[in-house]
Amino acid sequence: MKAFDATRVFFDRAADQMDLTANMRELLVTPRREVQVQISFERDNGEIATTMGYRVQHDNSRGPMKGGLRYHPEVNLDEVRSLASLMTWKNAVVNLPYGGAKGGIAVDPNRLSMKELELITRKFVDGIHDVVGPDTDIPAPDMGTNAEVMAWFMNQYGKYHGFSPACVTGKPVELYGAPGREEATGRGVGILAVKLLSRLGRKPQDTRVAIQGFGNVGSHAAKFLHEADFRVVAVSEVSGAYHRPEGLSVPDLIRYCQQHRGGLSGYTEAESISNQQLLELDVEMLIPAALGGVFDRTQAEKVKAPIILEAANGPTLPDADEVFDRRGVIVFPDILANAGGVTVSYFEWVQNRQHYQWSINRVRQELDRVLSDAFEHVWDLAQQRQVSLRTAAWIIGIGRVGRATVLGGIT
Ligand code: NAD
Repeated sequence: MKAFDATRVFFDRAADQMDLTANMRELLVTPRREVQVQISFERDNGEIATTMGYRVQHDNSRGPMKGGLRYHPEVNLDEVRSLASLMTWKNAVVNLPYGGAKGGIAVDPNRLSMKELELITRKFVDGIHDVVGPDTDIPAPDMGTNAEVMAWFMNQYGKYHGFSPACVTGKPVELYGAPGREEATGRGVGILAVKLLSRLGRKPQDTRVAIQGFGNVGSHAAKFLHEADFRVVAVSEVSGAYHRPEGLSVPDLIRYCQQHRGGLSGYTEAESISNQQLLELDVEMLIPAALGGVFDRTQAEKVKAPIILEAANGPTLPDADEVFDRRGVIVFPDILANAGGVTVSYFEWVQNRQHYQWSINRVRQELDRVLSDAFEHVWDLAQQRQVSLRTAAWIIGIGRVGRATVLGGIT
């Protein structure tokens, strides 16, 4: 199943609960605009390389569109379309004054030099600068991109439109970024994991966690869970997985990564296992924090964890979701689980517009407040309607976007 079709199934499951008409469904799922641009650039060896860049702007009924920029070899229009739609519902669930968008470039950032990465970023901005901006559509980091990429984005955008720090978020703190943005998605995963456990009557000390992906989101989530007394027993990244039943030393793993160009390859303080084995470990909580589409029907049957917290976007396909439902596995949905990142991006945008920088403590307090409110709302609705947490989150998101669309006037 294609990524956008999978998103549509989740949309329809919630829309069925809301008795939404077919015409209204069509309006809400159809993206406002899709842009594809050619990106050709000179490689360090003098060869010319060409790839495609995408920006899908899904919905702007609640405010400027907002969503990450992904650099990954498998990026394609369908995936970006699905991720843009998820951003619309995510921003609405946490009640940020934003619509949803997403972008991506089909490249492997690990195979490009810094100079080449800078070139493709600037080329991409050349191609899309007239349809994005602080009041229109504001990109941010996602898989394969980071604060440095956002700094290049801002610099190139400024060449066309003048000084505009609010045109992109996730920038370096020294260059109009917000303290706490880099850790925000992982911190949010930690905040929500604590809340979820408390509602389930479980204790962090008795909760063994396995995390797929040890990049920005996975490593920060591991750090916060470790600090909150969870037992992080396994982590993986693209080159392999590492398991220690008594609990991994997360600070040690992070140090190792920093010293080895962001990778864990060669780490000897834990047993080396396959990425597949990590997904099937006997743990209490499994956190996908890498790619989408990790759980299909077959994989879902093999998962032993009773709780899945979706730090990645779109890790569960609809038929896997049915299997989890049937087996009583609690799935905490991506559109809330990883919303910490866009929430602090919103704080960064607010600070850029006010030319006033908040303290890290204020950022953390406000993040906690926004996510806690959203958690309570989703949890209560799921109990009231006797639906899954995913369906409850989508009902809230669709309800807010639908109301804004109607109030703004459709014709
Ligand atoms: P990243 O590029 O920093 O890290 C990705 C990690 O996944 C790396 O450790 C990589 O080695 C690993 N990985 C890739 N393929 C893998 C595989 N097959 N098996 C195991 N590990 C694999 O990306 P990120 O920013 O941490 O994003 C991860 C996920 O979180 C994505 O789904 C992204 O959309 C989502 N997300 C990110 C943010 C953010 O603020 N960065 C916000 C919301 C959601």
